[in-house]
Amino acid sequence: MAWTGICAFCGAAANDATTPIYWSRGNVDAFAQTCFAYWRCPDCEAILARDRVDLSALYTHYPIHRGASGASLRAFYAQIHRSRLSLLRRGGLKSQAAIYDFGEGAGDFVAFLNARGYRAVGADPFARSAPAPSRVDPPGDGGWDAFTAQDVIEHLEQPLTLFDTAQRLLRPGGLLAIGCPDARQIRLEPPAGRAAAAHHLEAICMDMHAPFHRAMPSFAGLCRAAQAAGFAPIATRRHFPADSLWPSVNTATMIAYARASGNRLEALYAPIDWGKVLTHTRIWGAALWGGVFRHCGHMQVLFRKV
Ligand SMILES: [Zn+2]
Repeated sequence: MAWTGICAFCGAAANDATTPIYWSRGNVDAFAQTCFAYWRCPDCEAILARDRVDLSALYTHYPIHRGASGASLRAFYAQIHRSRLSLLRRGGLKSQAAIYDFGEGAGDFVAFLNARGYRAVGADPFARSAPAPSRVDPPGDGGWDAFTAQDVIEHLEQPLTLFDTAQRLLRPGGLLAIGCPDARQIRLEPPAGRAAAAHHLEAICMDMHAPFHRAMPSFAGLCRAAQAAGFAPIATRRHFPADSLWPSVNTATMIAYARASGNRLEALYAPIDWGKVLTHTRIWGAALWGGVFRHCGHMQVLFRKV
């Protein structure tokens, strides 16, 4: 059947005669046996889902909405929160700043910020549970000091709407922090040979996070789209915010553990399997060196509203 697509970031057109389709299997139990079609924008190199899905049904049992449980996962999340806050501080975030966390999930980052004296409020387009009642008096449109969206923009069918929302809420000079996959660092093309292709399918499984990831920008494509929406980039980190030099508190360890667990996201939210940890040298190697030799495929970019 003929297929045509429009890049959600730059508007470039694609069709089945000119643009290859690549496959990625799901990394949650509900979709572990299903492969989903993706294509790469020939202009900005974004990775885009080819087929529409029912997003509201998709998030019914989303593992990440459970939030951090267990000491290992809590340490992982705590590092993410510290890293996200330090990036905002690099942009000059003041104490008691009003921060809007879009895609808050279980609300852990909002709680982290409020415990440190900031005035943070969260919202999530996909979370099933109602957000915790806020004790913060929200400043209203045009009054927020910062708008943050960690692992959110790639979940949206129309990612540019995130910039519209940030423009509306932020004060002039306000900060916009976006963390998401960097499509250019994800290799879609499978290598030749059946065994190599099967290995490749597993290797990209966690970064692709099909079918939840709908539109993953490249670094250059994200910056271009942000600038067109009235935001100037001021700081960049080319890794996931969980990466630290503390042993095991890094993305490579999480990826290695997930890989040893059949690339199932649910395994990361279940009690830790110490037998698996002790018997997989890849996990040990990642735990020791994953903060130095970081897992590629993610970026954090801080923008200022101009
Ligand atoms: Zn594009």
